[in-house]
Amino acid sequence: VTHNNQKEHLYKILVICDLGVGKTSIIKRYVHQTYSSNYRATIGVDFALKVLNWDSETVRLQLWDIADQERFGNMTRVYYQEAMGAFIVFDVTRPTTFEAVSKWKEDLESKLILSNGQRIATVLLANKSDQNRDFLSNNSLKMDQYCKENGFVGWFETSAKENININEAANFLVKRIIASE
Ligand code: GDP
Ligand code: MG
Repeated sequence: VTHNNQKEHLYKILVICDLGVGKTSIIKRYVHQTYSSNYRATIGVDFALKVLNWDSETVRLQLWDIADQERFGNMTRVYYQEAMGAFIVFDVTRPTTFEAVSKWKEDLESKLILSNGQRIATVLLANKSDQNRDFLSNNSLKMDQYCKENGFVGWFETSAKENININEAANFLVKRIIASE
């Protein structure tokens, strides 16, 4: 095997927020191209690796799927270490999960500061869009505004079930991380 001088990037990406919003499903869809409607809570922390060819470089995304029972405990500080990007996920069918978004964002920012002093690139995912076809048209402006005010680099409506916008959201996040390096 010949090795050229290909540059490699390894990025730790967090996937966080409340129980049942679809964190595990999004990762499974993105990394393994699978989806299941059988619910199984994540215990501890799961990892998945996605390898991307990025121009002539290689990007390895290490996705951290955080335990559903972990909420702003001391463990999150440990999970967050060395992360370069994050997805905060809510469920468009359950408004209470959106209320949790800003709490998770605050938790993240209070516990993780990048070495360059910047805050970690965070993308908001409005998941289960297959269950609410009008979400985008009804909430687009509101969500843009929310992201601006709360320091998200952007947001996407996603469906792990129908494979909507997950690749797009990941590419967007990677672009932001690379641009900030
Ligand atoms: P987690 O607790 O955040 O990891 O959530 P899971 O990934 O375990 O998903 C919780 C439940 O929501 C499961 O029954 C999934 O099948 C379901 N689910 C996840 N994503 C979607 C989606 O995009 N659309 C629909 N309709 N259901 C979803
Ligand atoms: Mg899970």
